[in-house]
Amino acid sequence: MSERGSLEIKNVGKSYEVDRSELKVLENINLKVSPGEFISIVGPSGCGKSTLLRLVVGLDDNFGGDILLDGKRISGTSLQRGIVFQDHRLLPWLTLEENIDLALENSGWSREKRRQAVADHIALVGLKGFETVYPHQLSGGMSQRAAIARGLVFKPEVLLLDEPLGALDALTRLRLQEELLRIWKTEKVTMLLVTHDVEEAIYLSDRIVVMHSGPGRVADDIRIDLPWPRDRASHEFADVRREILRSMDAYAPATAKAA
Ligand code: ADP
Ligand code: MG
Repeated sequence: MSERGSLEIKNVGKSYEVDRSELKVLENINLKVSPGEFISIVGPSGCGKSTLLRLVVGLDDNFGGDILLDGKRISGTSLQRGIVFQDHRLLPWLTLEENIDLALENSGWSREKRRQAVADHIALVGLKGFETVYPHQLSGGMSQRAAIARGLVFKPEVLLLDEPLGALDALTRLRLQEELLRIWKTEKVTMLLVTHDVEEAIYLSDRIVVMHSGPGRVADDIRIDLPWPRDRASHEFADVRREILRSMDAYAPATAKAA
């Protein structure tokens, strides 16, 4: 059981057709993720992070290379791979528990097993008491908690998160980072997080993958060896931050970047 959740991305390339010409978005992406690892992907807007997650979740089969989960080539979407987007995408006409239960529609589970799993995951994300509430009655942070519960309710091997906290205010974001860590430790799920927040990536991850654009490729793969719980105010944290930003080319002179 403990070996479930290994993900291998091999020589993945992806192009879109734009105005009848080919736009190469991802080139030669190679990435190995061990079971239970927490990996963040950072990189400039447009470098193909969301595209890569869409391929891993199985929303788009039209790409080159291979994506393997536990050694098996993925095909189409599957309950083994959960996803959480930046906008929560809860259905407004369903209650919180109905929204989460919806993720189990194709699970084949009994009504009782579904009911239990939904209740457990609402508790896991700290939303007990809000089961029958509708999405418009939830704050942004609560909606993202609900989306995380929905992503995890089938006990997927991999949870893919596409800037899940990006639209939240700073304090809510910090709280939800703590929650993500707690959930990751309880569920022992492999996490692949896309974030534009370098600090968030350092605070949460075993490894940070830095992507560059034009076309999107892996520029760096940096192991974060800071002890847990991590101290954002420490010198070590600042050193890692500098290293990541340098790898992202964030220190290049503005004129050089504009060229
Ligand atoms: P990121 O998530 O890193 O910001 P995306 O994966 O969303 O980047 O996009 C990568 C590139 O692919 C961008 O140039 C974007 O305009 C382009 N792109 C994304 N989706 C499509 C699509 N469906 N059709 C054409 N081009 C797309
Ligand atoms: Mg994106």
